[in-house]
Amino acid sequence: MSSCIFCAIVEGTAPARIVYSDDDIVGFLDIRPVTRGHTLLVPRVHSTGLDDLDPTIGSALFRAGQRLAAALKSGPMAADGVNLALNDGSAAFQTVFHTHLHVVPRHAGDKLSFAKGFLVRRDPDPDETAARVRASLESAG
Ligand code: 5GP
Ligand code: ZN
Repeated sequence: MSSCIFCAIVEGTAPARIVYSDDDIVGFLDIRPVTRGHTLLVPRVHSTGLDDLDPTIGSALFRAGQRLAAALKSGPMAADGVNLALNDGSAAFQTVFHTHLHVVPRHAGDKLSFAKGFLVRRDPDPDETAARVRASLESAG
């Protein structure tokens, strides 16, 4: 059996409730869902995070997320909204090091404070921050 739990799920050697499958991506229910229907989409080919993720597979991953989100809203899950999240690195709360996209169905008033921090923080110097992000992109090439 693979030492990576998500590779093992993709290979079918570890149990999971598979809900989505295409040529590049497999989707299964999260074992500790933050809402009902919380799904993880993973590339079939192992990568640990964003750094070693083939951008073509990244596109397929996002496309699957978009498709699943639409289905969760229009179908019997009747979601009012969806959070898509990709935790890259321990500092970003990544705990399983096989790239995965969280697809979290949301219902109005479900009280989940997911991503709330993104909404309430204030940057004391946004001009300096923008300059630093642009400089980061320039140095990364
Ligand atoms: P991360 O924090 O790395 O972004 O998220 C990892 C997610 O994987 C967590 O939400 C956790 O509940 C889920 N998870 C960890 N191990 C397993 C497993 O063996 N099976 C399934 N279905 N989900 C898992
Ligand atoms: Zn893996």
